[in-house]
Amino acid sequence: MNAVLDRTFAVEKVPVVLIVDDDSVSNYMLSEVLHKDGYQTLIVEDGRAALSACQKELPDIILMDAVMPVLNGFDCCRTLHAVYGHDCPPTLMITGLNDSESVESAYQAGAVDYVTKPFHWAVLRGRVRQAIKAHLANQKLKQSLHKERLLRQELKVANQQLHHFATIDGLTGIANRRMFDERLDTEWKRLCREQSPLGLALIDIDCFKAYNDTYGHLGGDQCLCQVANIIKSCVRRPADVVARYGGEEFALVLPNTALEGVMHIGKSIQADLKKLAIPHIGSAVRPIVTVSIGVVSIIPTLTSSPQTLIGWADQALYNAKNNGRDCVIAFSTSTVMR
Ligand code: GH3
Ligand code: MG
Ligand code: MG
Repeated sequence: MNAVLDRTFAVEKVPVVLIVDDDSVSNYMLSEVLHKDGYQTLIVEDGRAALSACQKELPDIILMDAVMPVLNGFDCCRTLHAVYGHDCPPTLMITGLNDSESVESAYQAGAVDYVTKPFHWAVLRGRVRQAIKAHLANQKLKQSLHKERLLRQELKVANQQLHHFATIDGLTGIANRRMFDERLDTEWKRLCREQSPLGLALIDIDCFKAYNDTYGHLGGDQCLCQVANIIKSCVRRPADVVARYGGEEFALVLPNTALEGVMHIGKSIQADLKKLAIPHIGSAVRPIVTVSIGVVSIIPTLTSSPQTLIGWADQALYNAKNNGRDCVIAFSTSTVMR
């Protein structure tokens, strides 16, 4: 490759110059000079032929005569800009030496610069070099912006996946303990400000150890998924959180829900589970899978914490187990609801 070009652009690909002129002598001279500077040249003789050449492959610069048959340089330049927009190669318009009107029209049509006939070769070579340099730099910038956009998108997807794995229980697909803690904390603060009740239910499968012993660990996993689905189907508000609290224990965070509401949901979970009637011959309660549920609802205050709420729900669950299991017990009343 020519030394001047090599130093100026340091490109992998030889820049292509499209020469558009009906003057074959001028074309020949231009081509010779540009070849010597290391460019690849392509010659067409009118604007329409230039449009066709661009359709096949966009050159890196266009040297376009202003006055040509079929389609003149101004109209061709305008069309190229309309078709290719920001990807349009820079166009240098070839005008007569004293033709200031053409220069004006050339800029209006979108040309980046102009060269005059007869050619001043040093000026022409300099303008071609500068225009290509700016064009290639612009393309490089566009490519890196595009790459950056793609990388950002990939990063966004990766972050979403990461967040999913960090907050979703792998077995049941519901929220995990971490998400439960986060959401409980958020709702606690929000409802403290709003002075509205926050409900919590802890749900524990009865005699689950025996279930595993009877149906195997995989059978146990399946049962956990079925119970999770039942619990999910019993809550409808967008702010409600259904979480796997740990092992065979689930938790429900129910914002803006008073105790009767939490109790109602607890009982519907029990009823739906009974309808599903998952066999559990090893259970000491019934021959089907049952759950014990501890419920609580309080209006959060600055002097208490979500841990208080969890402690009370846990206490209610403990009472439910002690009361023969398969029941919902509210912390405040300690009433057994079968
Ligand atoms: P209780 O009625 O008092 O709740 O009795 P339980 O047998 O359900 O309670 P316990 O705490 O004695 O046993 C819980 C069992 O849950 C033991 C454990 O192997 C099982 N378990 C915990 N996590 C999983 C899990 O991810 N998959 C399966 N299959 N079993 C689990
Ligand atoms: Mg249990
Ligand atoms: Mg348990």
